Amino acid sequence: PIMKETREFQAETKQLLDLMVHSIYTNREIFLRELISNASDAIDKIRFASLTNQDLLEGDSDFEILLVPNEATHTLTISDNGMGMTYEEVVENIGTIAKSGTKAFLEKLKEAGTANDTELIGQFGVGFYSAFMVADKVTLLTRAPGQEKGVKWESTGDGTYSIEEIDKEKRGTSIILTLNEEYRQSEKSDEKFLDRYTLQSLVKKYSDYIRYPVKMNFIKEEKPRDAEGKVIEDAPVETTIELRTLNSQTPLWTRAKKDIQPEEYNQLYQSLFYDWQDPLEVLHSKVEGAVEYTGLLFIPAKAPMDFYMKEFEAGVRLYSKNVFIMEHCKELLPDYLRFVRGLVDSPDFSLNISRELLQHSKQLKLIGKNLEKSILKTLETMLSKDRSKYETFWKEFGQALKAGVYSDFTSREKLQDLLLFPSSNQPDGATTLAEYVSRMPESQKVIYYATGKDQSAVERLPQMELLREKNIEVLYLFDRVDEFALDALREYKEKKFQSVSRGDLNLDDIQAPEAKQQAEEVEKDNESLIKAIKEQLSGKVADVKVSSRLKSSAVCLVSGDNGISLSMEQILSEMNN
Ligand code: ADP
Ligand code: MG
Repeated sequence: PIMKETREFQAETKQLLDLMVHSIYTNREIFLRELISNASDAIDKIRFASLTNQDLLEGDSDFEILLVPNEATHTLTISDNGMGMTYEEVVENIGTIAKSGTKAFLEKLKEAGTANDTELIGQFGVGFYSAFMVADKVTLLTRAPGQEKGVKWESTGDGTYSIEEIDKEKRGTSIILTLNEEYRQSEKSDEKFLDRYTLQSLVKKYSDYIRYPVKMNFIKEEKPRDAEGKVIEDAPVETTIELRTLNSQTPLWTRAKKDIQPEEYNQLYQSLFYDWQDPLEVLHSKVEGAVEYTGLLFIPAKAPMDFYMKEFEAGVRLYSKNVFIMEHCKELLPDYLRFVRGLVDSPDFSLNISRELLQHSKQLKLIGKNLEKSILKTLETMLSKDRSKYETFWKEFGQALKAGVYSDFTSREKLQDLLLFPSSNQPDGATTLAEYVSRMPESQKVIYYATGKDQSAVERLPQMELLREKNIEVLYLFDRVDEFALDALREYKEKKFQSVSRGDLNLDDIQAPEAKQQAEEVEKDNESLIKAIKEQLSGKVADVKVSSRLKSSAVCLVSGDNGISLSMEQILSEMNN
């Protein structure tokens, strides 16, 4: 047998623990949600695995989560008969932080100092470690199916933990929290974590949708009743123990839409996706026909901290008739919608479908197409009905849509009307392409844009002078993907996009014809000067021309009509460095 040993937490874990112990986070009750959700995940795992290997169940398939408060020992125990952990798994899952999200959290925290811990914790759902917000000591007992020995893990959150082999008859995991002083006799009713009614209401609040029964013993001390149900006054008090199920277990999405309150959607969203904010938008759809499914999708109000990092895992959850199949199904929605959270439940998904098979699933494709359509529809409606809400969305996730325009050519058309850009008309605001076009004078043939790192950089461009003078609106592209997106679109409503720093500005129709003539005359008069400049700069520039696009600047660099743009050139040269 493996002897008891004491190990150090990984540095990052220590940091997180320290934060949990000393945090001023007020919403500490969420530890219960975290532990119940872990228990439910563990049951999901064994239930799924047992589909192909019945033996794992060891004859115990009455899945349940049990809460046992004990006033005498100041402990609260949360037990499950899910997929327990082996010794190595405990070390791996509990002793280290593997989740990229948590790593991102810690990085953010370093950046932000400690001022807004509270928001950050809520935003992340730091899972297991949240137990240390309310407990002095956390003990974990677990046994994986088929293992002879179980494992005991224990820590007081001080930077080390002990781990040893033990005998454990029941498969699954028990987490024993020895509550810290503050919560042994809290005054606040919602912080009495040993009080059965407090626990009951917390389960209702946070874990009602959990698909497995969360049970607790209620002790009743009553005088018995007679056959007619009347209390027998002179009989002694009888103590009965009643095991009650605390959660309703009906997954929210299976209920009729009209019976669901907005708060219920919000709560489900928050607990499933670790967000402390309500979602910006909820899409709940039930479809029967060629395919049958229920989709419950959310557009978050804020991009998760790791959204623009490589580690970010996109994809919705899949269920089949309420049974969980997988966590991040990336195959369902196109990549540009990777900000969408949610789940899809369909009897057409087979339970033991693999990721490989999933890619070829016709049903999945059909469902994905439908959902994509309704998400786009929702965004279009938001844009036309609630502009400021859409701008909030755009600020958070606009990049994903822009990336969709240049990387996913099948979606270009669908996305072009959802794009927003600042422009010389509204430098801090945003315009759609349609709005820009509607303001174009009839003589204007192209859509002008200027790239730069910010407004003042763009407005200092010598090329802007003439356009400003002529009162022609110019789109401002501050984001490096913007130009890729416009390049990919090439045109909007048959108006080509034209960079102010590329080629001829095509202003002939807008400016007076004399100007062009004038330029030609200047060119003729100065033929020898231009020739001299060309010779001086030969090999460095392709051509030297007299320009009608300058007002007060003496010269400007432009790209040729067919050459790559200046900003693209900058990006490329940065990449080479
Ligand atoms: P997450 O649930 O997001 O993975 P947690 O910090 O809540 O992160 O849990 C970390 C890991 O510990 C889980 O991924 C799981 O592998 C393991 N774990 C936690 N609780 C249990 C449990 N009750 N049964 C089995 N494994 C568990
Ligand atoms: Mg968890």
